[in-house]
Amino acid sequence: MDRKQAFTAEPKIAYFSMEIGLQNDVPTYSGGLGVLAGDTIRSAADLQLPMVAVTLMCRKGYFRQEIDSEGRQMEFPVDWTPEKHMKLLPQRVSVEIEGRTVQVQAWLYEVHSITGGVVPVYLLDTDTPENAEQDRSISHSLYGGDDRYRLKQEIVLGIGGVRMLDEFGYYGIRKYHMNEGHAGFLTLELLNRFKKDIEDVWDERLVWNFDEVRELCVFTTHTPVEAGHDKFSYDLVREVMGEVVPMKVLRDVGGADVLNMTLLGLNLSNYINGVAKKHGEVSQSMFPGYEIHSITNGVHSYTWTCDDFKSIYDEYLRGWANEPELFVRIGRIPDSKIWAAHQSAKRKLIRLVKKITGVTMSPDVLTIGSARRATAYKRADLLFSDIERLRRIGKGKLQVIYAGKAHPRDGDGKRMMERIFAGAKSLGDDVKIVYLPGYDMDMALKLVSGVDVWLNTPLRPREASGTSGMKAAHNGVVNFSVLDGWWIEGHIEGFTGWAIGPEPVENSLSENMDSKDAEDLYEKLETLIIPLYYNDRTAWIRMMQNAIGKNAYYFNTHRMMRRYVTEAYIR
Ligand SMILES: *Cc1c(COP(=O)(O)O)cnc(C)c1O
Repeated sequence: MDRKQAFTAEPKIAYFSMEIGLQNDVPTYSGGLGVLAGDTIRSAADLQLPMVAVTLMCRKGYFRQEIDSEGRQMEFPVDWTPEKHMKLLPQRVSVEIEGRTVQVQAWLYEVHSITGGVVPVYLLDTDTPENAEQDRSISHSLYGGDDRYRLKQEIVLGIGGVRMLDEFGYYGIRKYHMNEGHAGFLTLELLNRFKKDIEDVWDERLVWNFDEVRELCVFTTHTPVEAGHDKFSYDLVREVMGEVVPMKVLRDVGGADVLNMTLLGLNLSNYINGVAKKHGEVSQSMFPGYEIHSITNGVHSYTWTCDDFKSIYDEYLRGWANEPELFVRIGRIPDSKIWAAHQSAKRKLIRLVKKITGVTMSPDVLTIGSARRATAYKRADLLFSDIERLRRIGKGKLQVIYAGKAHPRDGDGKRMMERIFAGAKSLGDDVKIVYLPGYDMDMALKLVSGVDVWLNTPLRPREASGTSGMKAAHNGVVNFSVLDGWWIEGHIEGFTGWAIGPEPVENSLSENMDSKDAEDLYEKLETLIIPLYYNDRTAWIRMMQNAIGKNAYYFNTHRMMRRYVTEAYIR
């Protein structure tokens, strides 16, 4: 074995995530969290970091989305063939669930980089013939089912995952990185492993080596909303998981009244971070007793750059994919090349829109894109607050493309989609608006590269980071967004893009700024964005360059992983 192989053959970081966006047709992701996990792993492979990853199998995926003409979402299981993408391994481990022994097997998917780096990803699967029917389905549906189902999945991921890595002989793991609280049970497995071998202690808590476990754990939180944290009643935990550790210990580290997976992560990690500066602060105020750092998210540059831009970057910024800092030299690329690459990507998107919806859009009309999880706080319908004003401002000068899935149980999110459809109908040909069904990674790349402006209108401060705007920036697409998450750090008004609404001041969730934000949205569209697009192409291209040179330059997972290594992993 040569030195390089020996290095990657012994992973030191185990990355755990409930979902990972490995590639478009492997449906083991639902949205931002999973795509971030995939980008993390792709950058780790490029940088040859000694990492191994663990996730759930999801044989039925998240769901396949169809939308009827009224905007009503329909959900179907995803059909896919795991054997085409990954290899089933013979090893087995078991976990206890509801008093039964459940067998867990693993599939291996390898992420290979052209630099020679490899990150093995293990997808845990309970669908084996020796398991009872109800246990076989544990690894079927991502975020499906009820609390009990979720709890079982998290037992498989956290406890089964640590056991599986042992089974494979990964004895050199120095850090277990929990990507969100879903993987929190790995701490309990580690607690058991490092239990001190002492008898007759006066306080049974002394046998638990919390410090040693903390030394091994890194926890990244992803939601600034209390309700977004996974919580389970202790009755349910006792029924489903039994006493993996004594209840008294579990309550000490997981919360007195309910088991809060975020608290498990916080109490048993010695490095904790939020995913943008603002999110770190919001999390810090939610959990004042802990030291919460922040490492702002990024996206994997090569994955999220469309072919048209890849070829001009290859020509003018050789080596950019493994060194996104080279975007600082964006000024070397002639304006005409940037514009031609952009128009080519735009025409491809317009062809896709035609194919899916039958609607003919124009490559010469300012096009706004907005695609994200359809959930109330993202306020995708903010643009429709005043339909007649939108018609007046945008008539013949604006077209809009939406996409995004609502979680099957998110009624508000689904109604929001219906409002967008109703708005589109009322605007008719004055302002063409389409909503593309089946948002996934492939469609995301076509959207973020094919529109002119990327719009994001979350309710502050609920957007922990957001990453699709970073993807847009990689393709010279300018952001027009509420100052929340990453955009607080990436925004320079009139230079990298535009803000919607006021500067963020406080961390409270109660402020409601719908009307102020909508006012600002219309005002800037009418007086700044539309005139600039149609009247000053040179200035517009300057902003595209700034999106690349200032936003893509920084908001990539290569920079992010270097920070995880120096700040979280090597401590
Ligand atoms: C990037 C991406 C997301 C996350 O986008 P946000 O801006 O964080 O909402 C969600 N889904 C898909 C398919 C993506 O590619």
